[in-house]
Amino acid sequence: MSTAESVPTTDHQAQIAARVKAVESIMIEKGLMTSAAVDRLAEIYENEVGPQLGARVVAKAWTDPDFKARLLENASTACAELGIGGLQGEDMVAVEDTDDLHHVIVCTLCSCYPWPVLGLPPNWYKEPAYRASMVRAPRRVLREEFGYDVPESVEIRVWDSSSELRYWVLPQRPAGTDGWSAEQLEALVTRDSMIGVGRPKQP
Ligand code: FE
Repeated sequence: MSTAESVPTTDHQAQIAARVKAVESIMIEKGLMTSAAVDRLAEIYENEVGPQLGARVVAKAWTDPDFKARLLENASTACAELGIGGLQGEDMVAVEDTDDLHHVIVCTLCSCYPWPVLGLPPNWYKEPAYRASMVRAPRRVLREEFGYDVPESVEIRVWDSSSELRYWVLPQRPAGTDGWSAEQLEALVTRDSMIGVGRPKQP
């Protein structure tokens, strides 16, 4: 993958798709997987597991300080309390945004991502351009690519996920939401705010 950065996006995506197809065919041929199982897996992560589960966890953390402490201590076991977990979520780490610290996640090597809480990663997360530039110049990338202007007074920390540790962001609870229920707050939590490339919706 060392030359991937010079490959244009669409070619790069086509290459990945071709490789995935090849691996899938071999696994089916060798009897390690059935095409029905592959379809079902894709369906689960496209329709059933998605950022709405992460939003539930975030809203719970915003309304329950004890839960929040457990989440920051061990995200995988805290999510398991809510029945959320599974593939690619065994070693999740939640990092908390504060007034003077903002977190962003990336996987510089490939596309490691906390599936149980965020679903499948968006295409741009897998692109070499995002993976390389976010590490080099997070403030500029957030502003230019995502329209997210992080104040100079706020430090930005970029977390490089791997197959051992999958990071995600506990964003700040929006102002003006005092007394809101967890269900109401859940609707403000976006996927991008848990990746760190956006803010939660404001009330
Ligand atoms: Fe990765």
